[in-house]
Amino acid sequence: MKNATQNTTFDVHKIREDFPILHRKVNGKPLVYFDNAATSQTPLQVIEKITNYYSTYNANIHRGVHQLSQEATDRYEEARQTIQQHFNAKHAHEIIFTSGTTHSINLVAHGFGSILKKGDVILVSALEHHSNIVPWQMLCEKTEAILKVIPMTELGELDMNQFDALLKLNPKLVFVNHISNALGTINPIKIIIEKSHNVGAAVLIDGAQACPHIKPDVQELDVDFYVTSAHKMCGPTGVGMLYAKEYWLEKLPPYQGGGEMISEVTFEKTTYAGLPHKFEAGTPNICGGIAFGAAVDYMNAIGFENIAAYENELLEYATAQLSAIEGLKIYGSSKQKTSVISFNIENIHAYDIGTIIDKLGIAIRTGQHCTQPIMDFYGISGTARASFAFYNTKQEIDRLVEALKKAILMLS
Ligand SMILES: *Cc1c(COP(=O)(O)O)cnc(C)c1O
Repeated sequence: MKNATQNTTFDVHKIREDFPILHRKVNGKPLVYFDNAATSQTPLQVIEKITNYYSTYNANIHRGVHQLSQEATDRYEEARQTIQQHFNAKHAHEIIFTSGTTHSINLVAHGFGSILKKGDVILVSALEHHSNIVPWQMLCEKTEAILKVIPMTELGELDMNQFDALLKLNPKLVFVNHISNALGTINPIKIIIEKSHNVGAAVLIDGAQACPHIKPDVQELDVDFYVTSAHKMCGPTGVGMLYAKEYWLEKLPPYQGGGEMISEVTFEKTTYAGLPHKFEAGTPNICGGIAFGAAVDYMNAIGFENIAAYENELLEYATAQLSAIEGLKIYGSSKQKTSVISFNIENIHAYDIGTIIDKLGIAIRTGQHCTQPIMDFYGISGTARASFAFYNTKQEIDRLVEALKKAILMLS
């Protein structure tokens, strides 16, 4: 007899029981939530952690001698270790809690303000979210460093020949997302990191869109900085992380001054605390950090291989179903892609599609998805974007297809 536990079966209906929100109605119809690339839903296992924190041990950390403070500190530091293990960071103090991806990127960009010199080149990819563009533009204004763009192709992939050419400029820093939130493209970050290191450039990877689908190994990738947000991976909003190699965390100056991040303060001179506290000024999102750890545990219990395999099924199914709709065009057709579909329907504005299908209980995102350069590349003002998570189903995709057909009838 086969050992039944070896064949993990992926039971989406059982998983959906963990998400109370998936059972609500919107405009009288059962909710279909296809806006996962903007934020994911939260399972009971994480919600209960949050309730438990505020019901039983809410206290400030690292300061109090009292029992509650000790418990809160322990849980918070345990969460840091959970996250460390998940990303396979060498040290727990290489995980800095932040308010999210945007905060993490700004922290690094601010730090490089004291490292970059006038005329230094830094490379950004054409596929970036605004939060991985604007902080670097601000940095360039301050340092007079030069921002160059790795172009993209019609398929929605990075042009790796152009990337090779740009490396000849000896950039100091390269920043690329792991997965594009607008198109779903999985970028070849391992190669990008390797080639960048060969010319002495440090690399920051924006993992906000990857972490719901993939379990990155920062040591294997040998990446300098990896950033993400908890709310895209079943955790709460307002918390995220910066992973950085110890070398960089020692080298970069603190981002914000305040309590928690100091070792000694006099009016003559202040010395900074050791890692990770140097970068965690003020009272952090304690409950959020603990819930982030719980979200990581939750996703690992389901298993990232199971998640990826199932979401890939959803992606293939939806791509086939949507492509069959007349006049529908999908943007981003890389073979390396996660469960995000950006599309437009001929002669219909994406916003109108989004509004009509919302009336039918279906949540998608419309607009530029904080990636105006990608929209400009395709010469469009925006797209409709359906993004799937492991708790979505093929039946829900059928409802999307039906709703789109209704919208087309109404709008044309
Ligand atoms: C969501 C997202 C961000 C921004 O994350 P915040 O949580 O809003 O800071 C940045 N980059 C990518 C690729 C994203 O998907």
